[in-house]
Amino acid sequence: MAERLVVEKVSKVYPGGNHALRGPSFTVEPGTFMVLLGPSGSGKTTLLRSLAGIERLSSGRIVIGTTVVADGKTHLPPERRDLAMVFQDYALWPHLTARDNVAFALRRRRLARHAARGRAMDILERVGLGHLGDRFPTQLSGGEQQRVALARALVADTGLLLCDEPLSNLDADLRERMRVEISSLVREAGATTIYITHDQQEAFALADRVGLLHDGVLVQLATPEEIYSSPASLFVARFTGLCAELDVRVTGDGVAPGHVQVGPVAFSSVRPIQVRLATGDAKEHGSLAIRPTAVRLCDPEGGSAHLVGHVADTAFRGRHYELVVDLPAGHRVSGVVSERRVPRGTVVGLELESGGCFLFSADRAERVGSAVDQ
Ligand code: ADP
Ligand code: MG
Repeated sequence: MAERLVVEKVSKVYPGGNHALRGPSFTVEPGTFMVLLGPSGSGKTTLLRSLAGIERLSSGRIVIGTTVVADGKTHLPPERRDLAMVFQDYALWPHLTARDNVAFALRRRRLARHAARGRAMDILERVGLGHLGDRFPTQLSGGEQQRVALARALVADTGLLLCDEPLSNLDADLRERMRVEISSLVREAGATTIYITHDQQEAFALADRVGLLHDGVLVQLATPEEIYSSPASLFVARFTGLCAELDVRVTGDGVAPGHVQVGPVAFSSVRPIQVRLATGDAKEHGSLAIRPTAVRLCDPEGGSAHLVGHVADTAFRGRHYELVVDLPAGHRVSGVVSERRVPRGTVVGLELESGGCFLFSADRAERVGSAVDQ
């Protein structure tokens, strides 16, 4: 049965003083697929290993279902936490066949040997490996081994499934196929899942909810859509995909929360970009962060352009072209979608869509406003 997971102010200081977790707190409802996303070194593996009971917390509390598995006094070992794990490096038993690797996970449930092997074959069928049950790990490809590892984790039918970058060792094509399989198998099993990755696209594709980790701190926890349309900090915005960051200064006498104009420091935009400030400080200097989905190519003289620049690169992507557009003063916008090939050097206009433009303060890297429609 899927369990609720509660994590409260967990902290982990490694011997030597490395402070890997700095107090993240969150709750994961039963059956939710939660992805923890963050750059290398942000504390993802430490958090997952702490949930599993492989690492001991320095402080804080972890509750799985109704059981406190870790707090100041308690530290339940992994085998008493009702969870299963899938690692980056498959970690199959080399001396057991695929089927016996999966059946092994059923041992603690005291199923009779032939019943366990029967169930193991059922789940191997479901991950598309029914015909390879008698092979040893060395006789399987990386993707097949990872599917065995997934089958082994799913067959255990635990309250919590933990995955540490299970796709990162696979090549791109197989990674995408396995992502689809994991997504449907895990949801079919109804397990509460914590899945960690440093890959933003993988996170957004898989998750019901995404938690962003930065230096051991949980900086945002929301649905992928909310994070995309409302990033909490410049770090989050950058890590989840920007096509440009423009240095801007708020001009005008903006009596916030009204509309104020933003003029880039070293160049002026053709058509004013309006932002609504959250803080009331009209003298903000900061970054205008722009999502690739918020930029449209337009006629540089047609009146709709916010920015005008020239094409520095044009790349054929099959479905469309992607342009890099250089603006004055060293600013650059990449990932501009075009239906047609636009030769290098062409002067183009860019129209910005308000929903994907965010203003971050230069000093605090906090979000202080958003662009609005005029
Ligand atoms: P991630 O999985 O996000 O890459 P980790 O949890 O592996 O991050 O690491 C978080 C931080 O803790 C890093 O600075 C890392 O160097 C450090 N760290 C990880 N494991 C240990 C360890 N066993 N001893 C000391 N420091 C560690
Ligand atoms: Mg890691």
